Order: sequence, then C-alpha cells, then structure tokens
Amino acid sequence: MKRFFALLIIVLCLVLPIGVAAQKGGFPEIKQLQGPQNPRLGFIIHGGAGVIKKGSLTPEDEKEYRAKLEEAVTAGYKALQAGKTSVEAVELAIRILEDSPLFNAGKGAVFTADGKNELDASIMDGKTLMAGAVAGLHHVKNPISLARAVMEKSPHVMMIGDGAEQFAKEQKIELVDEKYFFTQRRWDELQQEKKQQQQQQQVKPSVAANGYSEPLAKAFGTVGAVGLDKFGNIAAGTSTGGMTNKKYGRVGDSPIIGAGTFANNNTCGVSATGWGEYFIRLGVARDISSMMEYRAMPIQQATDAVMKKVQALGGDGGVIAMDKWGNIGISFNTEGMYRAYINSDGKAVVEIYR
Ligand code: ASP
Repeated sequence: MKRFFALLIIVLCLVLPIGVAAQKGGFPEIKQLQGPQNPRLGFIIHGGAGVIKKGSLTPEDEKEYRAKLEEAVTAGYKALQAGKTSVEAVELAIRILEDSPLFNAGKGAVFTADGKNELDASIMDGKTLMAGAVAGLHHVKNPISLARAVMEKSPHVMMIGDGAEQFAKEQKIELVDEKYFFTQRRWDELQQEKKQQQQQQQVKPSVAANGYSEPLAKAFGTVGAVGLDKFGNIAAGTSTGGMTNKKYGRVGDSPIIGAGTFANNNTCGVSATGWGEYFIRLGVARDISSMMEYRAMPIQQATDAVMKKVQALGGDGGVIAMDKWGNIGISFNTEGMYRAYINSDGKAVVEIYR
C-alpha cells in the first residue's frame, strides 16, 4: 500500500506541471534539432513522381526534362536573390512548368474520362497562413496565378469551376480556349488508359460494378515548388491536371490545403504529387508539418515518415519540403520523381531517378 501511494505521488508530480502549463496555454517550446542559425535562401521544385525507370526516357526526352527543371528552379531562386518573396518565386517557377507540355499541369494537363482537361492548383504563404486554391478549371492558362489571386484578392481560400473562372476574368487572369490544353501525348495516354480499364473490368467484375479502376499509367506529373525568401518566409504551391481518366468532378489533393500543399514559417513548406485520394485521406502536407511541430522531427525524417503512411495505405507518389533554415526533405515511393533544388553552394541540382 505504501508503495502504491509513493508511486501515486511520483506520477502526480510528473503530470501536474504539464496540466498547469496546458491550462495557461503554455506548452513547453519545442526546440528545433537541426539547422544553421541564420536562414538562407532556398528553392526546390518537383515535376511529378511515377514509373520513371532509368532507361525509360530517351536521352533527348531526359535532356528536355532536365533543362526545363533547371530553368524553373533557377528562375525561382534568382527571383529570391533579387529580393522577391517566396510567394512570388513559387508562382514564377510553377508558371514555367505549367507553360511546358512536359508536365501534367497547365499546357500539358492530362485528360479526364470525358476527354476534357480539368485543372487544379493551390498556394500557401507560411508567414500569414493565408492560402488560395482553385479546382475544375477549363480555361485558365496558369492556374497557380489564379490560386494566388484567390489568396490575395478574395476573402476565400478555395474557388471552383465556373465561379473561379468568373473571378479569373475579373482579375484579368489569362483565359485560353480549351484547345490550348490539347497535346497528342496526353490524348494517347487517355486512350491507352481506357483500353486497359476495359480489360481490367473483364477480369475483375467488381471494377465494372463501381465504375472505377486503378489508375494504370501511374505517371503523375503534377508540378510544385517550395521557397524560403530573405525575410525568412516559406511558401509552397502545387498545380496539376489531376489523373488521367478521372471522373467528372473528381478533385485530387493538389488544390487541397493540408493534403497537396502546406506552408508554415514555424515548420516547413510542402508540395506533393501522387495518387491524390491517398494524400487527401492522410492530410499528407499538414502531417509533415505536424511531425516537425509536435515531434521536433528533422525535415527528411518527417517526409519519410509520412510517405511510409501513404505506402502502408496502398498509395504512391512523393513530396518535396523545406524547413525554415532551408534544409530540404525529398521522399517518394515510386521509381522516380522529377525534382530540382538549389544546393548550399547556390548550384542547381536536377534529379529524376531513385
Ligand atoms: N496528385 C495529383 C492528383 O491526384 C496527381 C499528380 O500528382 O500527378 O490529382
């Protein structure tokens, strides 16, 4: 009995101070375990994850991808060097990738099951926690710029479809004819996906019953960027055409704040790519930030931990992230991920494979 009371007193002594701290709203400050004292400029981008095996790209294609990634990451970094904010740099780099037919965003967006292009994007400012997101666009040339306008020029966080395009008109954001988004490569991918879906339905009647099939192309291609500016502010953005053969009205993780995009100066900025449904269910981008905030995890460990959860649930894809010191985290469970960042010598590093 004596022992029991002694134990009880010890437990109370340990628990009570935490309770008191919590009541005062005073949880102990989490110490960051890493990083230099002074923030530096930082910039990282991705151009999607997927089945990108060594040797699967022709040398010419690989050169083209590498050149575009280098152009975008360098442009974002130069903007930061010129004193632009991380929000400006993220928008700039993503616009370059959206204008390229190589990536599944803007010009190179994939086709829906109805043969349309339906674009989504989002951006977040880690200083203010302001965010802007758009989904289901058919005519906006650069969805990331509309997402930024939603963040900065509207009282809302997310706008979709016709309403979002009406807002684009009012904000004088460039609209284009739907034909602008046609690329033969993406059209052929849709035909191939439909054919494979039919074959799948014959083998697996359950697939036919719910009208849904596993995406077969598994070559994501969404684009994203995370930047840290000279003011110590982090921003993150993501833009996508979604997934080939997606059904009417389907929205993935890219325009969902906390799933495909997140930024908080106290932790990190994140942009994701992959099978969106899984990233939404796990709140991937916010979860990475939470790992850093609640568990003081270094950024690479946090991205790996969350991608493990995606894998365990059956999803695939990847993330890029940057903390408040400019440390980067890159994690993916696919064969490859198009990505580029500026290293500590200020040089652009472009990587594709594992
Ligand atoms: N995450 C995107 C989506 O699910 C696809 C991608 O990353 O390519 O819409």
